[in-house]
Amino acid sequence: MKHYKPKEFAEMLHVSVKTLQRWDNEGVLKAYRNPKVRKLKKKLKREQRSLSRKYENLKKRGEKPATKRGANIDKNIFRVQKLHARLANIRLEYVKFVANEVVRTKPRYVVIENLNVKGMMKNRHLSKAMAEQCFYTFQTWLIHKCKKYGMEVRQVSRFYPSSKMCSRCGHMKKDLQLSDPIYVCDGCGHTMDRDLHAATSLLRATDYIVLT
Ligand SMILES: [Zn+2]
Repeated sequence: MKHYKPKEFAEMLHVSVKTLQRWDNEGVLKAYRNPKVRKLKKKLKREQRSLSRKYENLKKRGEKPATKRGANIDKNIFRVQKLHARLANIRLEYVKFVANEVVRTKPRYVVIENLNVKGMMKNRHLSKAMAEQCFYTFQTWLIHKCKKYGMEVRQVSRFYPSSKMCSRCGHMKKDLQLSDPIYVCDGCGHTMDRDLHAATSLLRATDYIVLT
């Protein structure tokens, strides 16, 4: 997700699948972090461990968990469920907050990539990160907000080579390593943070559909 103020490069916001990040005026990357989530996740892990321990103890005693379940197990299950619900709520509130932040800076337009949803969900690591960031809720909410305030949302095809094509000279990089954090152009030597570079390419994309 990338956006620009009317004065090009004055401020750019880039939201990637894995993290919500933004670049400020000096090109410094700042991550949106939700401090509450980390704490709750820790708590959830603890409760889940304690629950599985309880089940194992039942098994050791030769009892079937489904029939012979004590009040402590029920309470434990309830605590786990409650933590899941709280985490989901916080994440939802959070993506709304970030989407509102984007709109609040009054961008001239917002560019989003039409991502390969099915393919990405097949990737176990990516799908987890995407679900955790409420990625689709974020996109839907952002488009909804932009519509409301009359901002243009451009959708670029997922086949647009935003990470391969040099944003300065248009040279196509052949051996692009996704693990490489820095983009270096073979044509003009242009060097840039990989994500920032992809965002810059998207800004200049001329082939897009307008969603709003
Ligand atoms: Zn170049």
